[in-house]
Amino acid sequence: MDFFTRKPAKGLLSTLLLWGALVLPALAQNSYYFPKAKNLDPSIPTPEAFLGYGIGERQTRYDRVVAYLEELARVSDKATIETIGHTYEHRPQVILTITSPENHGRLERIRQEHLLLTDPAKAAPDMANMPALVHLGYNVHGNESSSTEVSMLTAYYLIANQDPETQQHLQEAVVFIDPALNPDGRDRHTNWVSMHQGNPAVSDPADREHNEVWPGGRGNHYWFDLNRDWLPLAHVESRNRLEFYHKWLPNVFIDFHEMGTNSTYYFEPSKPYSSENRLIPRSTYDGLNVLLARYHAEALDELGSLYFTKEQYDNIYPGYGSTYPDFQGGVGITFEQASSRGNKQENSLGVLTFAFTIRNHLATGLATVKASAENRETLLRHQREFYQSALADGRKNGVRAYVYGENHDATRLRKFTELLLAHRIEVYELEKPLTADGRKFEKGKAYVVPTEQPQYRLVESIFAKNKEFDDSVFYDASTWTLALAYNLPHAGLKSKATAGKRVTELAPVAFTVPEQTRYAYLLDWADYNAAGALYLLQNRGVITQTVFKPFTASTSSGPKAYQPGSITIPVASQKISADSLYKVIQEVAAKKQISFESVKTGLSVQGIDLGSNNIRTLKKPEALILTGQGVTSYEAGEVWFLLDQELHMPISKVDLSSFPRLSLSRYNTIVLVNGAYNSLGKTAADKLKRWVQEGGTLITFKSASEWAIKQGIAQGNVVAARDTANGELRIAFADAAPTEGAQSVGGSIYEVDLDITHPLGFGFTSRKLPVYRNSTTILSPAKNPYSTVAQYTKDPWLSGYVSKSNLDKIRNSAALLVSDQGQGRVILFADNPNFRGTWYGTNRLFFNAIFFGSLIKTPGTAVAAEH
Ligand SMILES: [Zn+2]
Repeated sequence: MDFFTRKPAKGLLSTLLLWGALVLPALAQNSYYFPKAKNLDPSIPTPEAFLGYGIGERQTRYDRVVAYLEELARVSDKATIETIGHTYEHRPQVILTITSPENHGRLERIRQEHLLLTDPAKAAPDMANMPALVHLGYNVHGNESSSTEVSMLTAYYLIANQDPETQQHLQEAVVFIDPALNPDGRDRHTNWVSMHQGNPAVSDPADREHNEVWPGGRGNHYWFDLNRDWLPLAHVESRNRLEFYHKWLPNVFIDFHEMGTNSTYYFEPSKPYSSENRLIPRSTYDGLNVLLARYHAEALDELGSLYFTKEQYDNIYPGYGSTYPDFQGGVGITFEQASSRGNKQENSLGVLTFAFTIRNHLATGLATVKASAENRETLLRHQREFYQSALADGRKNGVRAYVYGENHDATRLRKFTELLLAHRIEVYELEKPLTADGRKFEKGKAYVVPTEQPQYRLVESIFAKNKEFDDSVFYDASTWTLALAYNLPHAGLKSKATAGKRVTELAPVAFTVPEQTRYAYLLDWADYNAAGALYLLQNRGVITQTVFKPFTASTSSGPKAYQPGSITIPVASQKISADSLYKVIQEVAAKKQISFESVKTGLSVQGIDLGSNNIRTLKKPEALILTGQGVTSYEAGEVWFLLDQELHMPISKVDLSSFPRLSLSRYNTIVLVNGAYNSLGKTAADKLKRWVQEGGTLITFKSASEWAIKQGIAQGNVVAARDTANGELRIAFADAAPTEGAQSVGGSIYEVDLDITHPLGFGFTSRKLPVYRNSTTILSPAKNPYSTVAQYTKDPWLSGYVSKSNLDKIRNSAALLVSDQGQGRVILFADNPNFRGTWYGTNRLFFNAIFFGSLIKTPGTAVAAEH
């Protein structure tokens, strides 16, 4: 249909003749969405003229949205478009910048001046002529699809409307249109609705159109929630976006969402205090939020649309699109529109149409532009004061600097430091060795982060533990101490005097390619990248072994100590030549940026020799994960993502419904994340049990661990879930939410004691390990004393909210168990070690389970295995 989309204005008439009643005239579209606009420039194509259908009549594919925005940039001097990166499925992430032609002419100067606001060390710029920056971020949850349609209407209106008020707004504001924060998820949902759309459309909520199949379009390619990823930056979409965000640091960011079909419309302010972050100045919540809300209310009043504010919507976690801006001197706002989840759907008030949901989001988004332009100086001043108060608060903080380091794993240290730098946090080298909180920090392996810096509030979020809360009900997480997620030793210091040179960029990784040898190569397992290196070796057909006891080897660069888990690669045992093997070693060292050593002798300086029975040959993992309805898609996605991105290892994603017919002979590892597996039935459970007994390694998380125990696939004991309402006999109806909420484990951090001599603990250098818990699965320690690989300590609570009764049950419970079954074993995690793809501490336990699981034979198993 290019014949009319390219030349929309001229082609419109013939299009109407061709399509007849299928296409609403542009006038009707405009009178529904822009009833008051009198002066729309006819040379600017409407979305309808460009697409060939009216907005709201169907779901628009992402590539068509981008094409329309490109067309606007082509025909108008008020708009430019740029690509800020690509998603995993290679969709472009685009930003359309809309402002007056005059502002476009000085855009880089506007940017430079704006950034001066955020640097308290520099003199404040003259705000009298500076525009406010407004970022409209649409469709982060891919199946909340109204808002991407809105992006086209908003762009059209701002560009085409020639009335003086809009001209004035574009002089006083720069608007960034970010049409879909999650393009891959968006299109998954778009295709689902489009392929099921009836003519006439079906409004019955039970219709297939309104009910996507698992995993739905909410997440990105790896099924992650990108609206939780602004802080951990696990994904390429977020990293690209954050780069753009820090280039501009907008004053207002709108995060467009949809909620339940029976709801109305929500915008901030959220519930005072209990939904708000204590680090953010009150002026953000009591000032800016309240100020902008008046405009949003007015826009919806005008349409007669119902809405609510001040209720429980989490504004605390800094990793949402609506909160991260609060941490950067802007104001982030969530808009939630009841979802038609398709083209129209019945709800308690009648029938909710897609067009209606679009119109509400359009009205509030345009109101945001108006509010930002009219309150330009207030917003700019707020941003200036925000960074000044960040410095002042950082100076007053009890902790003046955080030191963090890692003496054995350069990769994990590097990943964390890269994350801090991506957030524009000031990081310094540690000038001289230091002991704090009983931990040793070495120069070259540790960094210092002062609290007195513009990013003070993020620094506190990332390092400080929190145990005090205004409320006990959490949307999901109640803590996000990333230093714990990365399992990095860290400590608060009373002075920042230890800070040396500022780190702005990390030097390339120094890794050692060893001399060629005819005997063996060695790889230390302590480095995070060792797992990826191992898989690459295995994938090249290299025979690999791991050591169960420590030894000191006489390497070509001198004696070097190796801990259990270290990988040995004997040259003579390989199926490939010594020269080919050396090439593979060189390739792997370079690809994974990791050091190998070589030895010319099997005789060790100390400990076991290289032919010892304490060295075991590894099997290449052939892994399968069960997916589909009932399985927690986030956790399944985390497994897929980590294996893909960190190990470059394939995993077969098999639907629960095909499991009964599947031959399991090609797999040696099966992963069951949290989920409901009862639909498998007894026959399939028995099949899994037989496969384990014949030598398979089954890895289970959370409720899957409970299921495996209940099915007799693994031995273990599940501690009964909490009593409802904590044992009280009568509670007021109105108190149900807080009472029940207080008893759930919404996401908090605990300490476990890890057996680092066990294959699942290989590569860890400390027995103390922080874990993330967001479920109520509680497992008893095993009867076999060797089987409880990790156990919650007596006082395990590190950070986040937990009720006293839940804490009592968690103390001393098992965090990681092994249950030997015949020739195989089940590895049971009480928690999810891969949470949000960012728990680099515990996801190594998962990698150990993948690589070393098949080697586990628990001593004394014969006794423990009886039922
Ligand atoms: Zn949402």
